Amino acid sequence: MSIVVQKYGGSSVADAAGIKRVAQRIVATRKKGHDVVVVVSAMGDTTDELRDLAQQVTPIPPPRELDMLLTAGERISMALVAMAINQLGYQARSFTGSQAGVITDSAHGRAKIIDITPGRIEQAIQAGDIAIVAGFQGVSQDTKDVTTLGRGASDTTAVALAAALGAEVCEIYSDVDGVFTADPRIVPKARKLDRVSTEEMLEMAANGAKILHLRCVEYGRRHNMPIHVRSTFSQKEGTWIVPEQQGAAMEDAIISGVAHDKSQAKITVVGVPDKVGEAARIFETLATSAVNLDMVVQNVSAAATGRTDISFTLPREDGQTAVTALAALQEQVGFDKLLYDDQIGKVSLIGAGMKSHPGITAKFFASLAAAGVNLEMISTSEIRISVVIDETQIEDAVRAAHTAFDLDDNDPDGGAVVYAGTGR
Ligand code: ASP
Ligand code: MG
Repeated sequence: MSIVVQKYGGSSVADAAGIKRVAQRIVATRKKGHDVVVVVSAMGDTTDELRDLAQQVTPIPPPRELDMLLTAGERISMALVAMAINQLGYQARSFTGSQAGVITDSAHGRAKIIDITPGRIEQAIQAGDIAIVAGFQGVSQDTKDVTTLGRGASDTTAVALAAALGAEVCEIYSDVDGVFTADPRIVPKARKLDRVSTEEMLEMAANGAKILHLRCVEYGRRHNMPIHVRSTFSQKEGTWIVPEQQGAAMEDAIISGVAHDKSQAKITVVGVPDKVGEAARIFETLATSAVNLDMVVQNVSAAATGRTDISFTLPREDGQTAVTALAALQEQVGFDKLLYDDQIGKVSLIGAGMKSHPGITAKFFASLAAAGVNLEMISTSEIRISVVIDETQIEDAVRAAHTAFDLDDNDPDGGAVVYAGTGR
């Protein structure tokens, strides 16, 4: 029998009714003759609630204990899903990430999977049971402590497990019908894509689209695991993440979507002396503090002063760390000051077709200008153009670009449906 791995997100298992609905769906897949392995997220906003609770106890929770706490969310949903399946007359057994053989490094809060040894899952399958696995967690190879893989990482658990088990497909279930041309919560006329190439999906995930965890897309590509993104709440065919050549480009679309990201901040190092090695010194310091940079822009230095400004974006949660690390460097480097701005957002236009079509950048910028959006930073890849703008203008910018590139679904019956809609 072929193995199907199904991952259900927090909005799909938000309450008892959701858990029962998911159980029905799992059993239906089983009845079609597949072995089913399920990965679950925590119920609704549980992960955020647990994090808030920790904050109330201490401003800086020890990372080991925070992981211990957060992994409890997925343990609740896995046990309840297993119970609901048993209630339907099928055998199900739940497993923590550790029991499922998800072996990670020891970086609490952002652990990487280094191996999967799913012996117990294989035994469960052989015994005819449906295995339910807690997403987003594993166990450190060195310390044997429980780890988490980063927010939204249940997707990655699912794809990694699917690859290790040699599954036929990894299905990612959420509260929308698939991958859309923009976030349907902002653009109700967004269209569902039938297929997206892995390279486009990587850009979307890396630039704020939350429908799939970035590392799950990378994992899927490396292991050639077909990923099907679809809704728990409907029977519709969702979006298939496919190898490069078979993507949307084949359907003749130049642009496959507009992504946005509200989780970033911007730092400007003002008045950096224009000397060899200064940029290296600044970015080495950031690297040592494990700050993940995104866009980096350096202006030409002003002839009068021999100084220049360096700006970069980074995750807001790394903001304090980065500012502290750089402030300690001020005297050595001799820059004037640091500016920190977290009222920014990033909007990205993504499409493999832009490789071969000129004029995309001009059209994108013109649509933003018409919407009154001022551009603070610009960066591009072969298949993406991103701009950093004021946070308050993100939604306008996304809608303007979406319309300009004819992505709106104007069919009265078309457009996106958000079936559940939790997630802060
Ligand atoms: N529950 C975790 C989170 O909220 C993992 C996940 O949902 O994928 O980030
Ligand atoms: Mg998710």
